[in-house]
Amino acid sequence: MFEALMFLTGLLIGSFLNVCIYRLPRDLSVVRPRSHCPHCGRMVAWYDNIPLVSWLLLRGQCRHCLASISWRYAAVELATGLAFLLSAISLGPTIDTAKYATFSAIIIALIVTDLQERILPDELTLGGTIAGLAFSPFVSSEPGILALLFWNKLGPHWIRLIDAVFAAAVSSGLIWVLPWLYQKVRHREGGWMGLGDVKMMAMIGAFIGLRGSLFTMFLGGLLGSVLGYTYIFLKKKDPSTYELPFGTFLGAAALAVAVWGEGLVALSGLK
Ligand SMILES: [Zn+2]
Repeated sequence: MFEALMFLTGLLIGSFLNVCIYRLPRDLSVVRPRSHCPHCGRMVAWYDNIPLVSWLLLRGQCRHCLASISWRYAAVELATGLAFLLSAISLGPTIDTAKYATFSAIIIALIVTDLQERILPDELTLGGTIAGLAFSPFVSSEPGILALLFWNKLGPHWIRLIDAVFAAAVSSGLIWVLPWLYQKVRHREGGWMGLGDVKMMAMIGAFIGLRGSLFTMFLGGLLGSVLGYTYIFLKKKDPSTYELPFGTFLGAAALAVAVWGEGLVALSGLK
């Protein structure tokens, strides 16, 4: 029952994420006006705005002008629903479930905004960092290195908060300094990392800790290099000007780490 409820909540949140994905990069309000067809501009009625179901029933078309509605809308809803369901199955009705559900929702939105618009909105990265820090005192994460220094002096809530702040700071610092070092050492102009990626890593660090964010950077860099440059090669793009959606790769990596590396599987004792 709880799992089903979480799946439905995830679908609804996914539907809201679609609004965020379209409007945040354009600096539009995510509250008003109500959803309308991007093609004919007509308001979407509530019965045509049911996550996943409406898209399937209308076969991915607007009811009025029959313009096709991208499958990405349905994919975002389904992905968010599944992420919420997986969190619920792994962790039950706990604050950890709320944390991982929130984390996956933010990451899914960032994956798509970076892929479509090459933008990682501050509302998601900075807002997400604050959300991650707010969750940190109350979740059951393993204490990190700092705990060794402070464990006897401060309570576990403070330790976890300090740990999350530390993870956010170091993660964003590393992703900022590593490409710079690489350029210095190899004497090459690269710079495929934007300020958005730096803020995004702060968010990832705040949510899944330093070890998780280090895995994420490694895996994201690997994915970005292999898939990104394969794409550039196949599509015959110019590698010196083509901007890779690095946030998309970081996001995919962060989800993988959250599920298999640091988070759900480990915490639920399946590993
Ligand atoms: Zn329409």
